[in-house]
Amino acid sequence: MVEPLLPHPLTGELFASPVPPGTGWPEDPAAPGASVARSPGGVRRLAVAADLAQVEERVSVCSACPRLVTWRQGVARQKRASFADQPYWGRPIPGWGDPQPRVLIVGLAPAANGGNRTGRVFTGDPSGDWLFASLHRVGFAARERSDHAGDGQQLVGARMVARVRCAPPDNKPTPAERDTCAPWIHREVALVRDSLRVVVALGAFGWGGALDALAGAGVAVPRPRPKFGHGVEVELDGVTLIGCFHPSPHNTFTGRLTETMTDELFTRARALAGLA
Ligand code: SF4
Repeated sequence: MVEPLLPHPLTGELFASPVPPGTGWPEDPAAPGASVARSPGGVRRLAVAADLAQVEERVSVCSACPRLVTWRQGVARQKRASFADQPYWGRPIPGWGDPQPRVLIVGLAPAANGGNRTGRVFTGDPSGDWLFASLHRVGFAARERSDHAGDGQQLVGARMVARVRCAPPDNKPTPAERDTCAPWIHREVALVRDSLRVVVALGAFGWGGALDALAGAGVAVPRPRPKFGHGVEVELDGVTLIGCFHPSPHNTFTGRLTETMTDELFTRARALAGLA
């Protein structure tokens, strides 16, 4: 079946869903012909020697997890009714933000109708709205909202990544998918290690991914591993890992995570990172 072309909500350019690499989508890091990982071994091979721009490009076209490829593309074609008039990115979501961050924010995975639609991590869903509003209040984000790739939003001093780069069914990647995707975040953390002072892990899944990636970047991680908790801080070889409840509606609607708690945590991250 031929996918209908729909106008990008910012540029008006027409795109298929999912978006072919290098066809003009704002912030698309890939060119046509980008190297595609099609297996766990392919991810390891392509991640290990990549620079940051290559990691972003190769992540954005990765196809190593068959179940997730089917899911992310299926969501992109079917679309939620409220976004039926928009094209969906429908590809993995690379890390985004400052290429030399003092602070790295590690989340779980893109949302099916958020990052998987807009092409930017934590963008276009309630968790992202909550997170970016706090990052703006505290001084990391140029704008209050992140609505879509190409909207002018910028992070200063901070970068965001998801531990697993494709939207999973029910927000639950399998252990095998988590492990297949791990070389991408490991390489990304290794590449930004020199500037990095603070890692903010969103939820226990982000915490585990951050610890794995820091260990992979040569940071000494104690055994037994420190446990996740909101506001927990662990000093690791000059990098402070901080736990933060995930800003999902499950936590924010119930008051488990408030705006004040979120702002205080990112204010603390700024101070630890030596940012005014
Ligand atoms: S989850 Fe990661 S490894 Fe699996 S297809 Fe997506 S980007 Fe590739």
